[in-house]
Amino acid sequence: MTLVVIGIDGMDWDFVNRFKNDLTFFGELLDKGLGRRLYIDVRPDTGPSWICAFSGLTPRETGIDHPFVYLENIRGLPKHKELVPRMKELIAKRVFLWDQFEHPWVLGIPVCFPPININAELKDWLPVILPTTPDEARKSITLMTEMLKEALKKEYDLYCMVYGAIDKIQHIAKDDRTIFEFYSLIDSCLEELELGERNWVILSDHGRPLPRSHSRNGVIFSNIAPLPEKMTQVHSWLVRNS
Ligand SMILES: [Zn+2]
Repeated sequence: MTLVVIGIDGMDWDFVNRFKNDLTFFGELLDKGLGRRLYIDVRPDTGPSWICAFSGLTPRETGIDHPFVYLENIRGLPKHKELVPRMKELIAKRVFLWDQFEHPWVLGIPVCFPPININAELKDWLPVILPTTPDEARKSITLMTEMLKEALKKEYDLYCMVYGAIDKIQHIAKDDRTIFEFYSLIDSCLEELELGERNWVILSDHGRPLPRSHSRNGVIFSNIAPLPEKMTQVHSWLVRNS
């Protein structure tokens, strides 16, 4: 059995619903009852929330309670020295979803930075995973979609990747029109993929930015029913269905 897991960092349930008539792919999934709000019942920030999605572990259990986990000095920001051994321990203990598959393809998973890649290579990952301009964000979505499309032609048992662009755009864009452009781009990219008969899941780790964190209204879409309601249920639900 193959499973396709597509993460969309920061995709917001309220935003998707507000624009569902203009989003062909997501609108149709909602009409078919294949999507719902995913309540983020762990810290609604990229690092802790994706760690929970892919391992089932909460910040209390991992000791990793920081929005981003930098394993190196990145963009002049210091690495999180105290978090490096904790993150390396999680990786060594094989707690993540992809560790349960024999032949996984994994791209750009932001449980830490540099992100996790398996059987996939990103030469210059920074502008792809953490774009800082609309142009970088557009290229990022296009490139990751192309890479997934190519991977889907090969026989992996898990295809797993996370688009980083939506969260970054929501932090830098001043207006909903700009943000909508990126929801719309992902909408058409996902429509093109034709996921067909495979089991597939599309989910986010949190919603739009709030003054100190993010909205807890994430999204989950899937052709596997019933859908989980909150983030701490996602990992065991994925394992059960893979
Ligand atoms: Zn995030």
